[in-house]
Amino acid sequence: MPEFQRFSYDVLIIGAGGAGLRAAIEAAATGAKVGVVCKSLLGKAHTVMAEGGVAAALANVDDRDNWRVHFSDTMRGGQYLNNWRMAELHAKEAPECVRELEAWGALFDRTKDGRILQRNFGGHRYPRLAHVGDRTGLEMIRTLQDHGIHCGMEVHMECTVLSLLMDSGRVAGACGYDREKGRFHLWQAKAVVIATGGIGRAFKITSNSWEYTGDGLALAYRVGAELQDMEFVQFHPTGMVWPISVRGILVTEGVRGEGGVLRNSEGRRFMFDDIPDLYKEQTADTEEEGWRYTQGDKNARRPPELLTRDHVARCINIEVKAGRGSPHGGVFLDISWIKQHIPGSEEHIKRKLPSMYHQFKQLADLDITKEPMEVGPTTHYMMGGIRVDGDSQMSNVPGLFAAGEAAAGLHGANRLGGNSLSDLLVFGRRAGRYAAEFAKSNSAPTIDEQYLQSTATAALAPFERGPSGENPYQIQYDLQDTMQDLVGIVRTESEMEQALDKITQLDERAERIGITGNREYNNGWHTSFDVPNMLLVSEAVTHAAILRKESRGAQFREDFPNKDAEWGKYNIIVKQGTQGEMQIEKRAIAPMPEELKAVIAEMK
Ligand code: FAD
Repeated sequence: MPEFQRFSYDVLIIGAGGAGLRAAIEAAATGAKVGVVCKSLLGKAHTVMAEGGVAAALANVDDRDNWRVHFSDTMRGGQYLNNWRMAELHAKEAPECVRELEAWGALFDRTKDGRILQRNFGGHRYPRLAHVGDRTGLEMIRTLQDHGIHCGMEVHMECTVLSLLMDSGRVAGACGYDREKGRFHLWQAKAVVIATGGIGRAFKITSNSWEYTGDGLALAYRVGAELQDMEFVQFHPTGMVWPISVRGILVTEGVRGEGGVLRNSEGRRFMFDDIPDLYKEQTADTEEEGWRYTQGDKNARRPPELLTRDHVARCINIEVKAGRGSPHGGVFLDISWIKQHIPGSEEHIKRKLPSMYHQFKQLADLDITKEPMEVGPTTHYMMGGIRVDGDSQMSNVPGLFAAGEAAAGLHGANRLGGNSLSDLLVFGRRAGRYAAEFAKSNSAPTIDEQYLQSTATAALAPFERGPSGENPYQIQYDLQDTMQDLVGIVRTESEMEQALDKITQLDERAERIGITGNREYNNGWHTSFDVPNMLLVSEAVTHAAILRKESRGAQFREDFPNKDAEWGKYNIIVKQGTQGEMQIEKRAIAPMPEELKAVIAEMK
């Protein structure tokens, strides 16, 4: 019988990115015993990769900003499918969360008079992103880690959760294994917070790293949690396209926020050609007005390069398809042109965008202070995820909470840049608080030993099939090709139906995965756990995308190219049926209170 190393907590947090760490700090502050489990080393999460900044209406650079403008920007960006309660809490609480980070030692860039500096980003009406050059996430993780460790959380690094445990309908903890020795672990807990980030690795071209295989969503779904908004996968407009080995790596929106412009092979700023009605009033008419906006002129409107990501990504796609792309299948993003306006622009660019400078110098041998970059869309962020209560972050499974990218609701059909770092602070804090409260009012759960043993037996089965079984890497590659080609930036029903057929075939192959070697640091074995999760979330994305027969936000349907007001009333929910089948349904969005409607009307 496989052995388990056993631990017991009030609150177990799965994931040590910003959301997990912020939840851990909050839960520990109530006196709860907190355990944190993460798949890789502490500090190695998506949050650390975040570049551009964290959105909060601090109004340090433009005093017209406040929570009402941030709320209405977030709702407009999400095309009104957002959970309005989350959007309200987020806009109201983000400034306090950023100041809290500062009090814990985060060193943000400063205005001349010593306040936190804020930069422009797509879809935000005013400069709103607090930042540290283009390494904001690094500073956030450093601060949260330092603070968290002193709050007394216990960390289990390089441990992957394989399954959640249940006791009489409520969550009872989780079990998993460690990469170093391949031992099994049991983390018994009265409450569990899922903070496992996104699903980007289900696609071929992505800015996401190897950990983002949708584990948390799959874990929650299997114990009865509902998933929401799965059709909305964000394709960031600017990823590297060349060299091929680094294709998909992010080029921060901060480049455009600092004045970078997009051009096609004819040298034309094509973003001026197509400005959505929703944004016409807020967008510059001329290149000159757009430039003034990026330099802080309060009377100017933003350039079209700073429209929402879904729109910019589609415009780039159109240029490439029309044969007006760059040599390697993207378009040109040029920050070097600002030399026309800023003397000493080379040093200015290096100071404002140090990571971008080094990224292109080292990976593409290109000096962005002198030449344009080549960029194209890359799978970046998951708006969908575990459906949660807006205030507490609890899912429909008692004791199971979710925060950060793994949770759905705040961003609706499209996330604004910078709103993820603020999301994970605001809702990480709330999830930690409410999970600790839940733990206090519930006794320790009972562990189902039989289930535990069956999970371990299933986890070891690929060793028995050995080299004659299916290769897990090949299944992963085939899935990534399928999702990229058939459920990507432009979608049609017939292609997505083909994708579902392929996913079914891949599911069958995944049942027969075989691996060789032993249990220590065995990547093949690890991939055998990732693959079923990626298949599950891919199936959910595809079903939801087929059901939504309209184009809105991140979902563009070539067969239904228009937005349909009727569809604007619903979220799509994916859940497991009683026979284990995947169920997909429309669910009406709760009516928005009159005072929030008034805020939106006022900002139009
Ligand atoms: P993550 O930070 O992704 O952490 C997930 C954690 O879960 C990790 O510790 C991982 O090891 C763990 N985990 C996963 N599966 C398991 C498992 N099965 N068992 C145990 N542990 C598990 N957003 C902004 O707002 N502003 C930006 O400027 C910005 N820039 C970005 C730049 C890049 C290159 C990328 C990729 C994203 C960027 N984002 C940005 C998005 C933002 O960084 C992420 O959405 C956010 O950090 C997600 O945080 P999180 O805490 O939810 O998850």
